[in-house]
Amino acid sequence: MTHIAEPLQRQLDQTPEQRAARLQTLCGPFVHLPGEPLYDAGRRPWNVAVDQRPAAVAEPHTIEQIRTLVRAAAEVGLRVTAQSTGHGAGILAGHRLDDVVLLRTGGLRGVHVDPVNQVARVEAGAPWEDVVRAAVPHGLTALHGSAPDVGVVGYALGGGLSWFARKHGLAANSVVGVELVGADGDVVRADTATNPELFWALRGGGGNFGIVTTIEIRLFPIADAYAGMMIWDVERAPDVLRVFAAWSPKAPEEVTTSCRIMRFPPIPELPDFLRGRSLVILDGAALLPDSVAAEVLAPFRALEPEMDTFARIPAEALTRMHMDPEQPTPGCGAGIVLDRLDEGTVAAFLSEVGPGAETAIFMAELRQLGGALGRPAPGAGALAQIAGSHIAFFVSIAPTPELAALGHASAERVVQALEPWRAERLFLNFAERPVEPSEGFGPDAWERLCAVKREVDPEGFFLGNHAIDSDA
Ligand SMILES: Cc1cc2nc3c(=O)[nH]c(=O)nc-3n(C[C@H](O)[C@H](O)[C@H](O)COP(=O)(O)OP(=O)(O)OC[C@H]3O[C@@H](n4cnc5c(N)ncnc54)[C@H](O)[C@@H]3O)c2cc1C
Repeated sequence: MTHIAEPLQRQLDQTPEQRAARLQTLCGPFVHLPGEPLYDAGRRPWNVAVDQRPAAVAEPHTIEQIRTLVRAAAEVGLRVTAQSTGHGAGILAGHRLDDVVLLRTGGLRGVHVDPVNQVARVEAGAPWEDVVRAAVPHGLTALHGSAPDVGVVGYALGGGLSWFARKHGLAANSVVGVELVGADGDVVRADTATNPELFWALRGGGGNFGIVTTIEIRLFPIADAYAGMMIWDVERAPDVLRVFAAWSPKAPEEVTTSCRIMRFPPIPELPDFLRGRSLVILDGAALLPDSVAAEVLAPFRALEPEMDTFARIPAEALTRMHMDPEQPTPGCGAGIVLDRLDEGTVAAFLSEVGPGAETAIFMAELRQLGGALGRPAPGAGALAQIAGSHIAFFVSIAPTPELAALGHASAERVVQALEPWRAERLFLNFAERPVEPSEGFGPDAWERLCAVKREVDPEGFFLGNHAIDSDA
């Protein structure tokens, strides 16, 4: 054994608990160990159905602390995974974390907007709401998703499907630069000119290549949109979904919508129009003049929704239009891509989640794809496009393991029912549960991602939630 391998062997002979204790000694009080109150607070993700129990939790407030943490974890023989909000924790739950440090990035939330170049520099822990709020005074916005509190980095590294997606493509391909701490603890930059292969991999390949400290994203001169929602009682779901299926492929790419069935519990926190009701809801945004957008949406208005809020609204209001829960929520689910939405797909969907169906699913959603999403973006990263017509996405509320089991079973049933219309690949941001990550990519892109992983992280030190193995 060489003199390098000996200390390494000594570390590996230690238990993960001993290694974590040494990590805390090396890093200081921003590392929390099991049994400490800050450990329990720090390991709690947004998706509180997930009980993540890492070897240690780290809550750094500076990039220097991230570098210290990475170096120390390597020295003591622990791996590292980054998490900002924990919206994607259901996927990470597929991995054992007993030799992994969970690095929570919420202490780094800076956002700087450069209005001239229309770029935002965003620190690792910032949620979308912070970026939109900083961009809006300049008449700009970003390709954010449906919830204000989803993390920019996790969302963008995984693809990022926004209300402008059919016009402007995936958010991953609006990333113009990334800075990350690599396995040696040094900060590396990746953009088209510097480390271009790593830059390619980061845009779709997730958190497998290092701890992202800063991401730079393109902003778009969108000050407002014709946007909102229409709702009907769930009994109208067959009519609404048939119109949605016929309308979707013909809609202009300036329009991106979602159509979903939701079953709201009778709880006092909900407004009257939702409490205890089952509804079918169309929502989305059109980057079109009001009169043109109204014409495009006319087939839905002809179905006489009981509520119709579509109107010109400021870009900032789009972060809350979808009514995603902002408080930590226990959930489980599944998401697949459909290659078409026709009469058969609608019938299969309705038989599982439509009026009268026995299901534990709280939200059964169809998000519209096509337009720019269906074409490879120029100069794209690992996820260049999503081939398919819609994403089918199912979420159940899972406050107990028993309800989670029912939710999983309902999701499994509806995914099975939709199998004949299932597209070849997954969209990993909407997978919602542990899946085989290679299913998110074509064979060439997957091989290239594995090659980048072997190059930048040969020891498999960084664990992404959709993990790429360094020996794959
Ligand atoms: C309510 C809700 C609404 C959503 N809406 C949309 C939507 O409209 N469009 C869409 O595309 N997706 C949407 N998603 C999916 C969401 O984009 C993914 O769950 C995404 O992974 C969340 O990112 P996060 O940083 O908030 O989550 P986290 O769980 O904190 O992070 C997810 C993963 O990203 C990686 N990661 C995060 N930070 C870093 C970092 N600093 N360095 C390296 N890797 C990192 C890690 O692998 C981590 O496990 C939604 C999810 C929920 C729960």
